This record gives sequence, C-alpha cells and structure tokens, in this order.
Amino acid sequence: MEYKAFLIKYAEIAVKGKNRFMFEDALVRQVKRALVKVDGSFNVFKTQGRVHVETEDSVDYDEVMDALTKVFGITEICPTIVLEDEGFDKLCQSVNDYMKEVYGDKTATFKVNARRARKNYPLVSMEINAKVGEKILDAFPNMKVDIKKPEIWVNIEIRERIYVYSQAVKGACGMPVGTGGKATLLLSGGIDSPVAGYMIAKRGVVIDAVYFHAPPYTSERAKQKVVDLAKIVAKYSGPMKLHIINFTEIQKYIYDACPEDELTIIMRRYMMRIAETIAKENKSLGLITGESIGQVASQTMQSLLCTNEVCTIPVYRPLIGFDKQDIIEISEKIGSYETSILPFEDCCTIWVAKHPVTKPNVNIIKKHEQNLSEHIDEMFEKAVSSREIISID
Ligand code: ATP
Ligand code: MG
Repeated sequence: MEYKAFLIKYAEIAVKGKNRFMFEDALVRQVKRALVKVDGSFNVFKTQGRVHVETEDSVDYDEVMDALTKVFGITEICPTIVLEDEGFDKLCQSVNDYMKEVYGDKTATFKVNARRARKNYPLVSMEINAKVGEKILDAFPNMKVDIKKPEIWVNIEIRERIYVYSQAVKGACGMPVGTGGKATLLLSGGIDSPVAGYMIAKRGVVIDAVYFHAPPYTSERAKQKVVDLAKIVAKYSGPMKLHIINFTEIQKYIYDACPEDELTIIMRRYMMRIAETIAKENKSLGLITGESIGQVASQTMQSLLCTNEVCTIPVYRPLIGFDKQDIIEISEKIGSYETSILPFEDCCTIWVAKHPVTKPNVNIIKKHEQNLSEHIDEMFEKAVSSREIISID
C-alpha cells in the first residue's frame, strides 16, 4: 500500500485547557520542520484532536516515518487512507479494499472501532462498527471478530472526510519543541551530553549548545565530532546554534596557577561561567549537562556543589541518577553512540591530574581561584567574544 496520508496522535493530557492551541500549533510547526528534509511536498494541518500529514506526491514511507518518529509530542503515527464521504455502502467497500490490500488472505482477529468527530453522520459509531464488521466477515473468511483483544483494530474516523487505518508506529512522545522555553547544553564529544540534550528537548525545550575546545591540543576532528553530535541532537530538537569556545588559554592559565588536583573542578567552574554568559545572551532559562552522580571525580556530590556554586541560573542534569549502561542504551536508540565513541581527545582529558580531588571544598577552591588575578577576566572576555557560532539544522 502506498500511503499518502498520516494521522498523528498526541497525548491528550498535554493539551488541556488554554495551552491546547499552543501545543497543537507547536506540533504542526515541528512536523513541518521534520518533513522539510523528506522528498515531496506535504500539507500539514490540525483538526480536533489530530494533526494530519497529507501529500499528493509519491513519497518514501520509511523516510516519512524516520522524520515523524523524531518529532517530540507525537504518541502515534498512523498511515491512513482518506475517503470522501460518498455514502455508507461506498465506505464499506473502501474498507474492504483497504483490508484486502493490507492483509490479503491473512488469518487474524479484528475489531472495527468507529469514531464520529462529525456528529451529523447518519449512523452512530455502534452501527458503523457492526455493519462494517459484517461486511469484512463476508468478504474475508479468514478473519474473525474479537472485541476484547483483536489483532487488528480497524479504525474509522468520521471527520469532514473519513480516515481508515489499522496500523500505528510509536512516536517519540514528550512535548513539541518550542513549548518549553530555551536552555543551553554543554555539549562535549562524550556519550552523556548528547543524551542529556535529547532528554531536555523532549520536554519541549529549544536548545543551543556550547563546546569548549583547546586547539592545538584538541584536533579539528574532535571539533567535527561535536558538530556531528549536535546534528544528531538537532534531528530531534530542531535547529540549534553551536557556540565553540577556544578554551586553551584559560585552561593553560589554570594549569599554571592552581593546584594540580583542583584543575578539573576549577576548569569546570569556568566552563559553567562561560556557558552561563552565553546562555543569558541567548535568552536561555537554564544550562544542561550530562553529569551523573559519582560517574567521575568531578561528579561527586561535593564536586557538583563546587561546580554549581558559580551558576545563577538552574542547571538541568537529566542523567543525574542514571547508570552509564542506561545512558548508553538511550544514546544507541537516538543514534549518537557510534559518533560519541570515536576516539578523539577531549579538552577535559588533556590536563588531568593523576589524583583529582573527589571531595573539593568550595572555600578552598575559591581561595585558589584568587591566584588567577585579573588576567582571567580578560581571557574570559576574549573566549566569549571570539567564539565561533555554527548554525546546525
Ligand atoms: P560526556 O560523556 O558528556 O562527555 P563525561 O562523562 O565525559 O560526559 P565530564 O567530562 O566530567 O563527563 O563532563 C561532564 C559534563 O560537562 C558533560 O556531560 C558536558 O555537559 C560538560 N562538558 C564536559 N566537557 C565539555 C566540553 N569540552 N565542552 C562542553 N561541555 C563539556
Ligand atoms: Mg566528556
């Protein structure tokens, strides 16, 4: 069957009350955005409780599904046939044609599930169910009715036009991007931060990303890897700006002026400060990191306290209670894992201490940061103002 229409379902819970139109409009926008990269032209519009995707072109089903399954806010995508209302007999005939094409002589149980969004249709749902069911039984000797646990739900939605479908592909769920403000993701080349970005975008949040690199100690290829990861996250979150900060000078200065075992913590405090400066410029309401308690020395509760202490906006850490294996599973699911494990150096790993503090004390860290004098402010300004900004879409 060559499908030219898709019915998109979303969770009713998200669209209660006054926010309903906002949610639906954001979903329509995100669906349109996702389909831009698919060959063909699409008409995307909403009716009561549904978003519709229709085309007159011959489109690649897998490509359409690949795009739609990455749109947050969708619970199910149902490839459907669309019929004009040409009377009930014609409807029954069309349903049987549909069943023949999709299921042939398959032996299966089914149930007809009619729903009238248009109440002036001459038959009520129960009558439609019974009569269409009979016609299916007449035409397909291998089909049986099972009203409790049917293998096939034959759905008929009566709207301005009539939609018949029996298949559903699971959507990405969550909330449409654009319904939840904006946040700035600290995106490294690792496994965790792309997953963290994905998870926050899933709640409807628009994302910008910041990457700290340290040329010539970190290579162009390491940077390209982060660009590639941003592109993978953007498949779900939509376009983002990737801010690339040259961190070399600051990192070197910290290395020269601060105790070795505190390098990572002090460096991370500077990353957060810079990320927050950029976040405020681009009107982000929070930062996002891929931190998880205890994963490394810089992610103990004491270290997180120290890192967090420099931030004045919320830091969202969606992976905070996740085991590495759980994070890997999500990264495999969203398609970032293969890129994340490419073996390029990261700026955090270049100047690492053999024995970093695992229980840093904020007051001591602050005292040692005073070694950095006013030069650090100039370096900070320079790192922010000379950043490269790449548009990812
Ligand atoms: P990841 O797998 O995301 O790299 P990680 O386990 O390597 O994380 P850390 O290196 O301690 O952990 O980094 C913790 C978090 O800090 C990362 O998840 C990321 O949000 C941020 N971060 C670390 N390095 C960088 C970097 N070079 N640029 C931007 N953000 C970074
Ligand atoms: Mg990392």
